[in-house]
Amino acid sequence: MTQRVTNWARNITYTAKEYHRPRSLDALRSLVTAATRLRVLGSGHSFNRIADPGADGVLVSIADLPPDLDVDTAARTVRVAGGVRYAELARTVHARGLALPNMASLPHISVAGSVATGTHGSGVGNGSLAAPVREVELLTADGSTVVVARGDARFGGAVTALGALGVVTALTLDLEPAYEVEQHVFTELPLAGLDFETVAAAAYSVSLFTDWREPGFRQVWLKRRTDQAPPVFPWAAPATEAMHPVPGMSAVNCTPQFGVPGPWHERLPHFRADFTPSNGDELQSEYLLPRSAALDALHALDTVRGTVAPLLQTCEVRTVAADPQWLGPAHGRDSVALHFTWVDDIAAVLPVVRRLEEALDPFGPRPHWGKVFTASASVLRGRYPRLDDFLALAGSLDPTGKFANDFVRDALGE
Ligand SMILES: Cc1cc2nc3c(=O)[nH]c(=O)nc-3n(C[C@H](O)[C@H](O)[C@H](O)COP(=O)(O)OP(=O)(O)OC[C@H]3O[C@@H](n4cnc5c(N)ncnc54)[C@H](O)[C@@H]3O)c2cc1C
Repeated sequence: MTQRVTNWARNITYTAKEYHRPRSLDALRSLVTAATRLRVLGSGHSFNRIADPGADGVLVSIADLPPDLDVDTAARTVRVAGGVRYAELARTVHARGLALPNMASLPHISVAGSVATGTHGSGVGNGSLAAPVREVELLTADGSTVVVARGDARFGGAVTALGALGVVTALTLDLEPAYEVEQHVFTELPLAGLDFETVAAAAYSVSLFTDWREPGFRQVWLKRRTDQAPPVFPWAAPATEAMHPVPGMSAVNCTPQFGVPGPWHERLPHFRADFTPSNGDELQSEYLLPRSAALDALHALDTVRGTVAPLLQTCEVRTVAADPQWLGPAHGRDSVALHFTWVDDIAAVLPVVRRLEEALDPFGPRPHWGKVFTASASVLRGRYPRLDDFLALAGSLDPTGKFANDFVRDALGE
């Protein structure tokens, strides 16, 4: 490949022999039928080789296909093309008086790429971003289009599919009436005596941040829907200045705080759509484990904080409701998500990630598919009870493994 293509964090340079940005569905179909190995690159916000087709493969971005966004206000659904990002989707549906149930920490990520990896926001009642998906349109290995809708026996494998079934050309999502959210930030919540269940349920979406330099949390972000009860949070003090999740960084790129109400899509992400959240000098890891084990897992983390803290920019603790998707990291269990933003030094970070995975092992952690992890296929096999169903689905839609890559083989087994 003559052009150097990297992910957002620039820790991955894709090794494809060709890179294409087709402008029409027909051009995309020709690329798919001609290729023996092909992967789609979304907005490139993953931190590992999940999107890399390998040196003999073709890398395709579908960001130049028509950015179709068809809102059906009566049915409260939106059909969104596979290359569209959340910021654009959110603005469009909000203009029609509708909303998504949740968003991730930044809106710059593509919808298809996000649901492919099980990307999530927070909230004890909120599923991953895959939860509102009701239909997936796939361009499959032989160039035919396959539509898999909720209710289809294959649907559990079709949304969080790691890009391994085909090119997602469109998704249809359920919407709800637009709502407003206000964001309240509190500081210094101790780990000692933490009632995690109550704290996690204190608002529609709750995030705890820490640098693990001390036990406990430096910040708590509550995102409260204005149509729900006002938050009661006696365990920490209200922030007196606008905060960024990474201590010491300016909050200028963060969504408004201090309880100022605003549209859902301008409060649920931590970072504003009209600013670049940071320069990519970071790596991320994240593990989802049963929410019932959250407190024990946090105490286990506390025992390794001397190892973790020196490489950590920030750690975020969120919750995700149980996910029916077979490869969803929250599959079948209400989950707590333990996220780590590391410094940009993979050689130093990897041994710490291994140590972290050992500390969390008793809780059966499932790594975020788009982030840095070391767990092998044999370990992950024990953590995904529907893995064989997914492999059978991939085998039926893609018998020659056109959309498989080393990442998928290493993570899921052959
Ligand atoms: C700053 C930052 C903040 C983040 N915040 C969060 C967060 O709050 N919550 C969270 O859970 N994660 C978060 N992430 C991780 C991120 O959401 C995931 O890595 C997600 O997959 C990114 O989407 P993408 O389009 O960039 O995917 P890519 O990295 O481009 O691709 C991911 C996978 O999707 C596949 N794919 C993409 N588009 C298609 C398509 N059209 N058809 C078939 N396959 C496709 C790719 O082949 C690949 O397998 C964050 C990442 C960054 C960099």
